[in-house]
Amino acid sequence: MRDQMRAKLVAGNWKMHGSRAANQRLLEAVKSAAAEFGGAQCAVCVPFPYLEQAQNALAGSAVALGAQNVSEHDSGAYTGEVSGPMLRDFGCRYAIVGHSERRTLFGERDGQVAAKFQAAQRAGLIPILCVGETLAERDKAETEAVVGRQLRAILDTAGVRALADAVVAYEPVWAIGTGRTATPAQAQSVHEFLRRTVAERDTEIAARVTMLYGGSVKPANAGELFGMADIDGGLIGGASLVAEDFIAICKAAAARR
Ligand code: PEP
Repeated sequence: MRDQMRAKLVAGNWKMHGSRAANQRLLEAVKSAAAEFGGAQCAVCVPFPYLEQAQNALAGSAVALGAQNVSEHDSGAYTGEVSGPMLRDFGCRYAIVGHSERRTLFGERDGQVAAKFQAAQRAGLIPILCVGETLAERDKAETEAVVGRQLRAILDTAGVRALADAVVAYEPVWAIGTGRTATPAQAQSVHEFLRRTVAERDTEIAARVTMLYGGSVKPANAGELFGMADIDGGLIGGASLVAEDFIAICKAAAARR
């Protein structure tokens, strides 16, 4: 479902990487290239302690800031957690929720991911909801059942209108950090299914919702992936830590507008 209203978005997920010195070099490189990203929105989702550094380094640029997680609670006795209002305080626009590493390593289930999605929106953040199947699930032809369940957990609790101000990222678990990318046709087929799942509730919102692909996106494959009808950009892990690669991926998105 190609919709000219949907702008391209490339979001970098730094995961638990970085140091003040390395971040500064990376942020300055991305900031100085941003004028060449055309109408594509670029964002960097940095570890919590570096939010202020990134906010300062990106000031005055169109590069947006995001977090990699958010508490489902707004404040209170939740030692070690970081809330949506705190992320807004540091200028965040986006918060990733339900990344597969959070689901598998930290036991986040669909209900908690839905609560985090809603907490992000309550704080005025745009949630980037990650969905994706494992290799075993793909091999058993369960991809649509899994990503459909993960998406419906949001639709059933937050309602379809919540998707109008959200981003969905399809990230096949077998492609994250493995160097193994879904083919453009495989990714498009799942994106089309996800958009159809939203369309069952609201066709206008389905046409509008930004859907990213994530999983070993590189400068060499970004253009072809972003050229697919239902792929509106990417969530980029490893390649977002290499300035030259991340900038090339943002330019590939700009070229596919
Ligand atoms: C990710 O961490 O969300 C991701 C897609 O990682 P990579 O690009 O390294 O596969």
